[in-house]
Formats: sequence, C-alpha cells, structure tokens
Amino acid sequence: MSQTPRVLIVEDEPDLVRLLEFNLHEAGFETRSVGRATEVLKLATVFEPDVVLLDLMLPDGSGTDVCRALKSGAATRQISVIIVTARGEEIDRVVGFELGADDYVTKPFSVRELILRIRAVLRRSDPEGTAEDVITFGRLKVDLTAHRVYVDGAEVVLTALEFRLLSTLIDRRNRVQSRDALLADVWGLQMHVETRTVDTHIKRLREKLGVAGEYIHTVRGVGYRFASDPSDPGG
Ligand code: CA
Repeated sequence: MSQTPRVLIVEDEPDLVRLLEFNLHEAGFETRSVGRATEVLKLATVFEPDVVLLDLMLPDGSGTDVCRALKSGAATRQISVIIVTARGEEIDRVVGFELGADDYVTKPFSVRELILRIRAVLRRSDPEGTAEDVITFGRLKVDLTAHRVYVDGAEVVLTALEFRLLSTLIDRRNRVQSRDALLADVWGLQMHVETRTVDTHIKRLREKLGVAGEYIHTVRGVGYRFASDPSDPGG
C-alpha cells in the first residue's frame, strides 16, 4: 500500500463526488474521480489506487463490467473494489462478490461508515500488515482483522454489533461520537432504531469489557468517546 492510501471514486453524481472527495481528504486519503465507465481502467492504471469506489449505474456503461475488467487485468486485479449501488438496484451481494468486489454499500450511505469499510478493505488487502491490525490500550487488546477482543489476555466474546460499536469508537478515538453518528455508522441508516438503543448497547459492551470498560467515556448530553488514556477527562 502507498503511504497515503489512494481512492479512485467512480461516480457520476457531482454532489456525491464532492461530498466523498471532501470527506476522504479529511480522513487522510488521496483521491481521483471519474464519472464515466470507459475512463476507469486507464485512470486506474495511471493513478494506481488502493481502492476503487464503484458506482454501478454509470451514464455510459455498467459498473459490473468495470468491476470485471478491473479484476481481470494484470495491472489492476490487486486493487480493492467497493461497489456502490442505489437502493432497489437489483444486484445482490452474491453477484457483487462473484464479480470480485471486496465490499458493497447501498445508497444512501453514511460517509463515516464508508470510510470504515475502506479502512477494513485496506487492512485485508495489506499482507505486510502496515495497517493497524491489532491495537492495544493498556489491558485492552483489539484484533481488528480477526474481530477478537482481549482484556488482560482473556478473550471477551462480543456480538458482531458490539464489535462494530467498539471498533467504530476506537477508529475515531479521543473524539466524541454522537448517538446519531453511532446509529448511522454501527446500525446503518436503513435501520429505524432509537438513540436509546445506543445507550443499551454501550452499557452491555462496558459490562463485557469489565475493567477495560473505562476506556469508553460518556459525554453528557452528546454521546460517547473512546479515550486512549482513560484517565484523560477530555471533551
Ligand atoms: Ca450513478
């Protein structure tokens, strides 16, 4: 992987392109954008992205053909592909993965969730392990690839949702996460769940983590924050 991870945005909606470019730059990615299927392969060869965000509905062709072409080209097949579809577009996950895509998001999506997915794809595609795989905070050890959590060396069994909640907080550690942001990132925008649900799951997560539950701070009236130094009162 290059020092600054590169993302090629294949998308023909200008507003969405701007939103993605802005947020991906903020998150430390280098980006290029292209709105036409016929230009993707050439740009991918020149720009050498780590990840292609691939809209399936392009004005001059189908993203599925682009995906197939990327995954069969010698110079491009190692690039990770995250397929982006509008809700209701009849391609299911299975088809996406058959095409060789590495992940799949449905519009409308939360940009934060997308960034987490990009990072997860980068971790999986990085055999040298230069990305953050296992992360330790004092007595808490989190293996982000194997989805395993240890406190004082003993494994703590979390549900998939609890793990996503914890890894989301860790990913944005030392920054306050509102309940709404956590709902969008962890539960997904399509789920109609109450913000109180976040509190219930945080409580359960803290209980499971035991002594390491202290890393998750409650920020009164706002939400939660993972503190890499639990004694830091922070904001
Ligand atoms: Ca489109």
